[in-house]
Amino acid sequence: MERRNFLKSGVGAAALGVARLGSGVGAFTLADEKVARAAVGVPTPKIKDISVIECQPQGVRLTVVKITTDQDGLYGYGCATFTQRADLVRPAVEKYLKPLLIGRTTDRIEDIWQLCYDSSYWKNGPVLNNAISGVDQALWDIKGRQANMPVYQLLGGKCREAVDTYGHAQGNDFPDVVASAKQYMAQGFRVVRVQIGIPGMAGYSSSGGGATSDLKPLEPGPFYEPAYDLRRSLKMLEICRQELGEEVGLIHDVHERLTVNEAVQFCKAAEKFDMFFVEDPLSPEDLEYFKQIRANCDTPIAMGELFNSPHEWQPLIEQRLIDYIRCHLSQVGGLSPARKIAILAEQYGVKTAWHGPGDVSPVGHMAQISLDIVSPNFGIQEYTPFNDRTQAIFKGCPVMKDGYFWVNEAPGWGIEIDEAEAAKAPFTPGQNNLNGGWGVIRRQDGTVIKQ
Ligand SMILES: [Mg+2]
Repeated sequence: MERRNFLKSGVGAAALGVARLGSGVGAFTLADEKVARAAVGVPTPKIKDISVIECQPQGVRLTVVKITTDQDGLYGYGCATFTQRADLVRPAVEKYLKPLLIGRTTDRIEDIWQLCYDSSYWKNGPVLNNAISGVDQALWDIKGRQANMPVYQLLGGKCREAVDTYGHAQGNDFPDVVASAKQYMAQGFRVVRVQIGIPGMAGYSSSGGGATSDLKPLEPGPFYEPAYDLRRSLKMLEICRQELGEEVGLIHDVHERLTVNEAVQFCKAAEKFDMFFVEDPLSPEDLEYFKQIRANCDTPIAMGELFNSPHEWQPLIEQRLIDYIRCHLSQVGGLSPARKIAILAEQYGVKTAWHGPGDVSPVGHMAQISLDIVSPNFGIQEYTPFNDRTQAIFKGCPVMKDGYFWVNEAPGWGIEIDEAEAAKAPFTPGQNNLNGGWGVIRRQDGTVIKQ
């Protein structure tokens, strides 16, 4: 019998109930039976298989976990992407989470999250959290498909019609950045992130366009000096505000590249440009310095894409040291912990701005858009376009219109993955044969910098 008819018949639930009394997950069985009885006519699915889908359709390595249940046609997808160490996520899923989870009910998302989280004893790190994220989001997808509802409905329904986003404007020189920002504004975007290259240096988001520097670095290879970036980025903001008008929201991503004192100087100097926010002015190692930024200016601050642990975001939110929390859902362990972060932030007047460049799969984007649309304290969503190759693999990518992301209305995440298409876009060795890892950038004296 087909799954939906089986559910409708009501016979399925009763039959499954009898079968489960003898099933092998021990103490969970009786509790599962109660759940099965409470959810009228909906039998409890069990995890039958967990697999990993990898692809690289847009230059970035994407990892998605697929959980298949014992019910015909019932499965779900979750984003587990960690592009710089992508080859490590698959074994974390297949060798550790899969044996832990086979045979368990998919009904208990929080319970499964907790037992996955605790099973490594050491926790809150990249790779393991990405693996958990894949499982967590796949279980939410399954629950949505079971309920025949998009996941946002399970989270309480919409707080808004669509999700406001910002695009990435960038260029090697000031007019290039202004032109790039205007292109986004012409498409309807109300907020843009602006980044500029630094001549001769490995700036963030822009190569510098082949220009040379008068500086003479002591080591060959890419180099960068933060003070140059500080001055040039402030000049760019001044020009952008002049050329783009006062209505557009301006974001700039420092990407943790300045020294702590320069970060304070930058945020203070950017105050007069009425920023939407300054992103990641400090690295996670320097969180205490957010107090200095707060004490010196009222520039809105966004932070958190590198966070993996509650110990990182809790103090910033509780002390109201940031204005936007922008974790990467796959790095914090999926929708379940991100939802808790959003609710915690709401209590302290902090908004959300989840990390959303190309290193989040369309499944991950749907997870964060689903959270965006139900969170009263949603701030903005980072946006990167899906190319044709990505859309051929991920059927049902969220739609962008006039700078707004529109959530899928199909059950679960509303995304189906064409695994044959995914196989046509395998991981490639990447730059410097580093398997997607980042190369080295040094200061002129040879010191390695944070990127
Ligand atoms: Mg960033």
